[in-house]
Amino acid sequence: MNDLDFDCTMCGKCCHGLRLALTVDEARAWLRRGGRVELMCEAIPWPVEPVAENREAQYRHARSFPAASGTLPVRIAVLLVATFEGACPNLGADMRCGIYHERPLVCRIYPAEINPFVVLAPASKGCPPDAWQGTPMIRHGQLIDSEVQASIDQARTASARDVPAKAQLCATLGLAHAALANEGFVTYAPESHALLAALDALSDVTPGSRDARATPWNFVSNRHETVETLTSIGALAAAPAPTHAYGYLGFFAATPAG
Ligand code: SF4
Ligand code: SF4
Repeated sequence: MNDLDFDCTMCGKCCHGLRLALTVDEARAWLRRGGRVELMCEAIPWPVEPVAENREAQYRHARSFPAASGTLPVRIAVLLVATFEGACPNLGADMRCGIYHERPLVCRIYPAEINPFVVLAPASKGCPPDAWQGTPMIRHGQLIDSEVQASIDQARTASARDVPAKAQLCATLGLAHAALANEGFVTYAPESHALLAALDALSDVTPGSRDARATPWNFVSNRHETVETLTSIGALAAAPAPTHAYGYLGFFAATPAG
């Protein structure tokens, strides 16, 4: 990774119109403050277990739970995300965070990356060009700021720790649709009071306390060839259903059937 310099310009762009990934505890706190939280689901075909040396697959394995789509083994990864259009409800007129000492980990980390297999690319960030100068941020592949690194470590630990709770949450809320990983997300926007109640009921969840494989999962894709391929290998797959209770966020242009 190239060396990078960075000084936040306080432009506030990273506090506007976002989906902020939250830990389970942060999602509860966000909802209690009156904010909106949605769920984003993706499914990864998982026909065989990867070798131990495949560190990227092991990282994904630790942040997903096992399930099945038809006869295809899959792993389901779920994000809890704070959603808002325009300014974050916690952003002050002076562009300062109103919950600075309790802000989510992802706000402490941005623009650094949490996923160790994603290289930080300034062009993919909302920060203006003049932010990428000044204070050394990355040297020899290592973040200089130990507080940011500690927040990244916390976020990685939480994303693995939260997996059983998220499996339970999906079962409680009856969620069973997901986009193909790297092609998009299926989004669910439950009523805030229902989501908070479901999150509060998770306190006794322990790993393996509920087998998510009991629920058949359905792939959703806006690309005809994806639906055909997944169906051909035994999965349940279909185009987004306009009347269903989920939304679909596709990264690619739709290719309709026919
Ligand atoms: S919680 Fe604070 S830092 Fe995070 S997006 Fe909102 S205003 Fe910005
Ligand atoms: S978008 Fe970048 S420069 Fe602007 S406030 Fe956020 S971290 Fe700072």
